[in-house]
Amino acid sequence: MAQVRPAEPSPAPGGGGPITVAELDALGVERLRSPGARRVEAMGELGLHSVWDLLTHYPRRYIDRSRQAVVRDLRVGEEAMVLVRIGAASTRRSGRRAITTVHTVDGEGDRLRLTFFNQPWRERQLTAGTEAVVFGRLERFRDVAGMTAPIVDLVGDRTGRIVPVYPQSERVGLSTWDIGRAVEEVLRRAAPRGFADPLDETARRRLGMVDRGAALVGIHTPAAPDEAAAARRRLTFDELLRMQVALLARKRRLEASAIGRVQRLDGPLVRRLLDGLPFPLTGAQRRVLGEIDADLARPVPMHRLLQGDVGAGKTVVAVAAMLGAVDSGNQALLMVPTEVLAEQHAAAVRGMVEGLTVEDHSTLTGTRPLRVDLLTNRTPAGERRRILAGLRTGDVEVVVGTHALIGDAVTVARPGVVVIDEQHRFGVEQRAALLRRSADDAVPDVLVMTATPIPRTAAMTVYGDLDVSVLNELPPGRTPITTTWARTPEEVASAWATVRAAVTAGRQAYVVTPLVEDSEKSEVASAERTRAELADDELLGLRVGLLHGRVPAAERLTVMDDFRLGRIDVLVATTVIEVGVDVPNATVVVILDADRFGIAQLHQLRGRVGRGVHASTCILVAADDDNPTAAARLGALVRTTDGFELAEVDLDLRGEGTVMGERQKGRSDLKLASLRRDRALVELAREVAGELVGPSGELAAIPLLAEEVAVVLGEEAVDFLAKS
Ligand code: ADP
Ligand code: MG
Repeated sequence: MAQVRPAEPSPAPGGGGPITVAELDALGVERLRSPGARRVEAMGELGLHSVWDLLTHYPRRYIDRSRQAVVRDLRVGEEAMVLVRIGAASTRRSGRRAITTVHTVDGEGDRLRLTFFNQPWRERQLTAGTEAVVFGRLERFRDVAGMTAPIVDLVGDRTGRIVPVYPQSERVGLSTWDIGRAVEEVLRRAAPRGFADPLDETARRRLGMVDRGAALVGIHTPAAPDEAAAARRRLTFDELLRMQVALLARKRRLEASAIGRVQRLDGPLVRRLLDGLPFPLTGAQRRVLGEIDADLARPVPMHRLLQGDVGAGKTVVAVAAMLGAVDSGNQALLMVPTEVLAEQHAAAVRGMVEGLTVEDHSTLTGTRPLRVDLLTNRTPAGERRRILAGLRTGDVEVVVGTHALIGDAVTVARPGVVVIDEQHRFGVEQRAALLRRSADDAVPDVLVMTATPIPRTAAMTVYGDLDVSVLNELPPGRTPITTTWARTPEEVASAWATVRAAVTAGRQAYVVTPLVEDSEKSEVASAERTRAELADDELLGLRVGLLHGRVPAAERLTVMDDFRLGRIDVLVATTVIEVGVDVPNATVVVILDADRFGIAQLHQLRGRVGRGVHASTCILVAADDDNPTAAARLGALVRTTDGFELAEVDLDLRGEGTVMGERQKGRSDLKLASLRRDRALVELAREVAGELVGPSGELAAIPLLAEEVAVVLGEEAVDFLAKS
């Protein structure tokens, strides 16, 4: 495949060359002739300050005059869009209501009467002689066709077959054609110079893209629907390309400038860990360890995202990486978002490294057991002092902790591997702070683990500066989890019967209590109440334990131990059990008010079972009350246990919000691009960015594109996009 070669930059800024994004961005909308002062102000309210803002304020949809319905073809009760010419309008009062009637005719000359309640301003909005597209349900009253409270899009006095409809303009008192007129003025005045295009013709031909100018014209004033589609494809690609260039440049820059540590995964601790496992590694675990080994061995810091479905066995991979650091004479840190998780992970890691020893010449034997320390805000002062001193001198090899690990008092002598669990809950600043803990200049190898699978293209966009490893294989011998949705009281009763039957058979169960938003206190109360009610009724006679975020740490460990050792039959818990809890004998999980949880969270909670040899069941309890997205979520959980498939469903249902916070989306310049619809374009943009960005992150060969990235995303956003 021919390489994408960048286009020549425009030679003379402001001169006769094609107009660049930087120029458009520097030009205020007040410089246009068409809007007038009041409209300029209104545009400002929409965030349209520069001509570039205006040009990237894309139509929400288009009205195709030739494709609207006509009244004559419609039946009463049918919903349709009709293009009409506005005639007389009047408002009368009927009791406390103002009723506005607007007479219109469609293209065939048939009458359509519009009725609005308490919207007297419609009289002003719908000026006689102009055109509008109305969307509503057809009714007939004494033989006159009409619509009550239809959705109205003004076409105004614009000509042409296809008319763009702009978003939000009515809110600030702008009509959609006010915007259309201003956009057309820009396009007209720009025409002689044309728009600078960061992709040259060869590249465009290879990618099957129209040029930048044709795209801007085509999206705002298409002559035909497919012209708008081609324009959209190009402009979407541009958004994604800018993002990928920013991410990739940053990644390569970091790699080229930072000094990493050379570490190996073939030392004695790693070997003894792997040899001592009661199971062989899965193929995926071996492959991922190979990827990590190669990263650790390079003097460039690792920056890797480890994705794996629930139960895929991420912990052993992470622990091996951490021991690799210790084997190489360095220290390892595991950082998790909550205290409960820190305790659970510390316990899990301790369990895995039991029996492993490190050299210690102050002891008689010259060795001592490898220590795994736990640092949270609840760590007692004396213990805390000891751990901090040990981190500073290098005597503490492995530490698991929360945000306490990035406190000001923390300095780490030789951080070799830093594992960050559940990346999405940490802020960028916090991750950056963690990396600054090193006493020397070397940057540790970082492994980010996420138990929430992310669709591939979404990962490319959100974690574009990380390498990605995927554990896409579950350890053998897992029995599939059967998931059911209990909607009726009978089905709920049968859920409790399933729990009792499991306990009778020697198994254990979890009951997840309702999510109470915004208040941990009421969540705790709800968990306590649920436990009391169940213990008194449905689960009478069983040993029912309770776990939530406010149970004191020591008691929490006791409860977990009791459950692990089978001294508790049923554990009633809040979402604190979402991650890291591993009790293979538990085979039933009942999730109450399941419709309140998101797909990813339900999947995590379900992953608490199905970890042993016994068949497992997940019961989602939720009334079926006409909430289509909740039903779609629960239906997906019932249908599949594949986390990646669920992630795709989640992306479809929730859109970008799943993987990108609102704030990030806002700053990310993704106005057209949708990670759902445009998966193929994300991949293409990634590939092209890979060809354009220099090996050390240089953008010198692509000055025009680099300028666009800086103008559109801003230096700050470029850093923000590149998480940590
Ligand atoms: P994850 O963190 O990916 O959800 P864990 O690391 O908690 O998964 O592993 C889930 C369970 O599977 C643990 O009990 C672990 O000991 C076990 N396990 C991990 N790898 C294997 C393997 N290769 N074969 C069998 N069991 C495994
Ligand atoms: Mg785990």
